[in-house]
Amino acid sequence: MHALFALTITFMKPIKEALSLLQSPRKIFITTHHKPDGDAIGSMLGLANYLTQKAHQVTAVAPSELPDFLCWMPGVSELLNYEAESKLCDRALAEAEIIFCVDFNDFSRTKHLTTQLENSTLPKILIDHHLLPKDVWDYGISQPEKSSTCEMVYDFINLSGDNEMIDTSIAACLYAGVLTDTGSFRFPCTTASTHLMCADLLSKGLNHSQIHEQIFDSWSQKRMQFLGYVLLEKMQLIPDYHAGLIALSREDVKAFGVTTGDTEGLVNYPLSIQGIRFSTLITERGDEVRMSFRSKGNFDVSSFAREYFNGGGHFNAAGGKSLLSFKETIARFNQILSDIHPANF
Ligand code: 5GP
Ligand code: MN
Repeated sequence: MHALFALTITFMKPIKEALSLLQSPRKIFITTHHKPDGDAIGSMLGLANYLTQKAHQVTAVAPSELPDFLCWMPGVSELLNYEAESKLCDRALAEAEIIFCVDFNDFSRTKHLTTQLENSTLPKILIDHHLLPKDVWDYGISQPEKSSTCEMVYDFINLSGDNEMIDTSIAACLYAGVLTDTGSFRFPCTTASTHLMCADLLSKGLNHSQIHEQIFDSWSQKRMQFLGYVLLEKMQLIPDYHAGLIALSREDVKAFGVTTGDTEGLVNYPLSIQGIRFSTLITERGDEVRMSFRSKGNFDVSSFAREYFNGGGHFNAAGGKSLLSFKETIARFNQILSDIHPANF
């Protein structure tokens, strides 16, 4: 096909046009990305709690298990984990009438649900804030400038005219995602609208300090010791590139009995060092080598992840994977850095 024809794109319809689909009770399937984080689970459960209140029959499916620090969230006991309950999840999808996808913009980010989502003929609705969405949704909203998908779910509830339906359960879920995706309100994506939303949630009875404690101050002793080990033994700095690198092998992770979520946030530590503006975490996990990237300022880690590590994400926070072995991945990462002029970091 001629390149010009290949460029013909049909964009998804605005999310407000999907509201008419929700006027009578529906069977709704909601999902998010593999290895879900606070914003993924918060937006999924915030939306699930809201739609359930609206008399819809909702099934929320996480493609893989949750980290312990998110297991307090209202609605978590009804949440299905695809890796543990695939048959129940498949049945819910087969019976569903509408699909919501939150906090990802490419079906492959769900890992196990990729083919089912591709083949499904149900109306699919996207709510997401990652860069460069795939054009595979019927309705939706993509706003990379937003702090979090949770803030977008809050906007969606308001767009539906249902602000008064936000109870402390919905508020807790949405606040958790905003808190985690903004790095406790310190990243540049935090805006006046983010704070106005939080003010509204507080006025509805949100217990913000309890949520902070559940997410950030509920570590196991092992996790804290693992952090000490990582910072002392595993963190390397590459000053010419203003870069920090942490590479964790399967053995490193095994030695401390690290569980899902225990590596969360490690990638941010090098950025707390003066002069470091780019940080990378390489983790050998199962049969995969996962990459996490963070930056401060104007180095676009989403493009870096897309170009070199089959990934993507946001300008200052992105992820990807390597198809090489753990050792080869470290060597390739160092090679990529040395091929780029340090002034570009
Ligand atoms: P994390 O480093 O916390 O896993 O991910 C950082 C950000 O990048 C998150 O917003 C996450 O959704 C996104 N991300 C992580 N891994 C991938 C990936 O493999 N592909 C894409 N497109 N985005 C990713
Ligand atoms: Mn997010």
